[in-house]
Amino acid sequence: MSSKKSISTRRRFLRQSAAATGFLFVPGLIGCSSGNSPAASESANPAPRRPNEDRKLGIAILGLGGYASGQIAPALKLTEHCELRGLITGSPEKLPEWQSKHGIKEENSYTYDTMDEIADNDEIDVIYVITPTATHRDFAVRAASTGKHVWCEKPMAMDVAECQEMIDACNENGVRLAIGYRMMHEPNTRDLIQLTKENAYGAVTGAHAYAGYGGSPPATDYWRGQRDMGGGALYDMGVYSVNGLRYGTQMAPEAVVKATQTRQDHDNAVDLTTEYTLRYPGGITAEGKTSVVTNYNELHIEAEEGWYEIDPMQPYTGVKGETSDGKILGPPVPNQQSIQMDDDALAIMNDTEFIAPGELGLKDIAVIRAIIESAESGQEVAIQHQG
Ligand code: NDP
Repeated sequence: MSSKKSISTRRRFLRQSAAATGFLFVPGLIGCSSGNSPAASESANPAPRRPNEDRKLGIAILGLGGYASGQIAPALKLTEHCELRGLITGSPEKLPEWQSKHGIKEENSYTYDTMDEIADNDEIDVIYVITPTATHRDFAVRAASTGKHVWCEKPMAMDVAECQEMIDACNENGVRLAIGYRMMHEPNTRDLIQLTKENAYGAVTGAHAYAGYGGSPPATDYWRGQRDMGGGALYDMGVYSVNGLRYGTQMAPEAVVKATQTRQDHDNAVDLTTEYTLRYPGGITAEGKTSVVTNYNELHIEAEEGWYEIDPMQPYTGVKGETSDGKILGPPVPNQQSIQMDDDALAIMNDTEFIAPGELGLKDIAVIRAIIESAESGQEVAIQHQG
């Protein structure tokens, strides 16, 4: 873990970095709480640069695994406002191939032992944490301490306390935190969200979200098959159903009414399937299902005057949907992850709200923890931290 610089030193660094790169941060005004600060307009600093200028944010990927190599690095090439400029890895043997494939300089390549030096690298603006879930907290806190903005993959962390530590670290270091909820940036999903926001079919009366994939149970020597690493259906896929019910209904759940989980039978076993019922204020309920051994994938919203749904709800491509009166949601979307990263880059450049800030990730982890508690106790469990 890095020796922590003082906040004032870090803010000075951010100012210098901004001046050096032509992109202006507003130190102290950019925090993890993503709302616009009223003080922003009173700042003596010039306004942040607007989009579509030549400036791109320099992104360093932390964790060169499957999602980073298969999805995020290729998607970065398709962005308008981002550029892959840095690598951080615990496997330095991966660096030569990544460097040559993506044109990354040796001086922008770090290991987990040297990553704190990235604080002095003006070419990097954002560290994108793409590692096993149980490591997100530590890597995100370290990333924040370098003075770089932090993007972190879903699910945000193991529990609410870890999420809060990540948010606090970003606030203390004057940087921002976004969660890689790609579906919230996906245009057809955003059309569905808009139907709820506009009450297009009247008030929501119920919902279900199923996110699962069929296959063999995850190997027990891989983090996805290890409970203490954040493996299992609920963290991996279930977070899509929990998050989907939130954006689909635009409501915060107040309780897990009931939940069941099936697990393998060994120490550190993960859930293979989880089913749960959430209750919202007013008594409306929603059903969630998630699995790593069964295929299903849909988000369905029932409203007073009709229904609408996205099916499938969370593949990388091919999200589409329909409504009870025959509207189709679903022109093909070229690349979700590039839209996600451009949205998040613009939010940083313009000091506007993230679509999926750390605070949202924390709320979903609170729901996941309540689902686990309900499954273990067999009782209804109140959900905290939804305000
Ligand atoms: P992988 O197992 O393929 O890669 C994880 C990488 O994390 C490793 O290659 C390694 O990179 C690094 N790492 C750091 N610490 C550890 C550790 N203790 N054990 C194992 N690896 C470690 O996982 P994925 O890339 O599939 O998933 C990574 C994250 O991305 C997870 O949070 C997952 O939920 C999320 N994800 C999100 C998706 C989405 O659609 N939004 C899709 C898939 C995954 P190195 O060798 O460079 O250190």
